[in-house]
Amino acid sequence: MEYQSNSPEETEAIGARLAAGLSAGTVVAFTGDLGAGKTAFVRGMARGLGIAQRVTSPTFTIVNEYEGGRLPLFHFDMYRLGSADELYDIGWEDYLARGGVCAVEWSENIEEALEENTVRVDLRRGDGEDTRIIRITGPEGEA
Ligand code: ADP
Ligand code: MG
Repeated sequence: MEYQSNSPEETEAIGARLAAGLSAGTVVAFTGDLGAGKTAFVRGMARGLGIAQRVTSPTFTIVNEYEGGRLPLFHFDMYRLGSADELYDIGWEDYLARGGVCAVEWSENIEEALEENTVRVDLRRGDGEDTRIIRITGPEGEA
């Protein structure tokens, strides 16, 4: 599916809608430049899962955990990760087994750790300042 968003709020709404249909253990892998709207999208996903907390960028912590919704949300930012090896050091496999949704920014850096059933979300800037093109592909993203 391809969407055009014209504001951060629209991007959040697309994220919320995607998250509402996700099942436990799903990995959502993001690609797209700095400022593309990845974190805004994940903020919407949290809302779609019924999480009350406001999502902030986990750049300095690698992963933030949000409980209290329909499913837990684990929000990763792999910007500073050099390889998938470091991912296993922070307990990637434990996160996968915890029955939540894993949202992964800068998934380019851990491509080899991603399985075939990953949902992909690519965000690109469009023509206008606030325009974003959002492409969602993958098992549940097709719906
Ligand atoms: P990323 O996580 O990809 O680096 P962020 O979500 O942190 O991006 O930031 C996106 C920035 O772009 C924010 O400052 C936001 O206000 C702005 N923005 C403008 N238009 C949009 C849009 N349509 N969708 C998402 N963010 C937008
Ligand atoms: Mg971000």
